[in-house]
Amino acid sequence: MRWNARLEGMRAYEPGKTIAEVQREYGLERIVKLASNENPFGCPPAAADFLRETETETELYPDGYATALRTGLAEKLGVTPRQLLFGGGSDEIIVILARALLSERDNTVAPWPSFPQYRHNARIEGAEMREIPLAGHSHDLDAMLRAIDDETSIVWLCTPNNPTGGIIPDNELRAFISKVPEHVLVVVDNAYHEYVTSPEYRDPISLIDDFPNVIVLRTFSKAYGLAACRVGYAVGPEEIISKLEPVRPPFNTTVAGQGAALAALGDAGFIEQCREQNEKGKARYERFAEQHGLECPRSEANFVLMEVKGSADEVTGELLKKGFIVRSGDKLGTPGFIRITVGNEKDNEALLGALAEVLSLGVPGA
Ligand SMILES: *Cc1c(COP(=O)(O)O)cnc(C)c1O
Repeated sequence: MRWNARLEGMRAYEPGKTIAEVQREYGLERIVKLASNENPFGCPPAAADFLRETETETELYPDGYATALRTGLAEKLGVTPRQLLFGGGSDEIIVILARALLSERDNTVAPWPSFPQYRHNARIEGAEMREIPLAGHSHDLDAMLRAIDDETSIVWLCTPNNPTGGIIPDNELRAFISKVPEHVLVVVDNAYHEYVTSPEYRDPISLIDDFPNVIVLRTFSKAYGLAACRVGYAVGPEEIISKLEPVRPPFNTTVAGQGAALAALGDAGFIEQCREQNEKGKARYERFAEQHGLECPRSEANFVLMEVKGSADEVTGELLKKGFIVRSGDKLGTPGFIRITVGNEKDNEALLGALAEVLSLGVPGA
């Protein structure tokens, strides 16, 4: 078959192991999965009610324009409906951006380690990827600026960054974008926005009023607890969104996803509670790291990167045998660290107990 030559050697995304897989492989009953930054508290009750109670006319296509969700979200964000683009998760928005803007003639600039889908999709489109190493767990914005030239099409920023958790402070973000040439689209991947508490942070959607070449990516998969429903979106200037709309598959979000996301939107209290619980959980991980002399950079998201002073793959494997699923930094570009999703209090304590055993640190707090 006449495969696109660029697919040579490419592999499918390797997700964290599923609960069922680990149960089967290790004969374990109770599994704690803290690997994919899902919300340990589920989704807003109104979204759960919608999913349980709504009868779907399954033979009918969804509203491809997601009109009701679009209207509700536009109102909440204070933008026009035409400033929004919906995707099957923000993953699909990244695919749409790559298709629309990247080709063999282009290059694209991104931080590394960061979200791997930027490089993955750049490669599929044949664009040259210029990955700029983080400096002390933060975006090296000066080096990213230097990497931009006339052939640069997209610059990716990830704030808070996955897997390191740090934000780009608002003043630095603005100083950076003001120096990026206007032919370059600045994509601000903002999947963990709802969790941020740093005073140096300001809602990146405010950038859209001040710069013509910025779009912001958000998702219902993380704080809103709707990863199964696959709804993400981009917010940007109408001119940019209207160029992207033809690239979007016509029925790319589902009836269930649109309805659950709309129902979830109204529940600000739920998000606030999750943020508070998440802060408490992160403090617990930070205290553990401090007690044991392990590095654990400040995270503004719902995961932490924890130093393990050894092979991350090995530690991840040992935790798996005990029924805990986390991500090895060896797979994420952060060797020597594991990425742990902040869970509920009980799961956090259980995980730290298991981690202390694996690292022979003695029981935490003892
Ligand atoms: C989880 C995540 C996404 C994608 O989430 P979707 O479920 O596809 O919306 C995008 N960017 C980052 C940085 C993420 O961590």
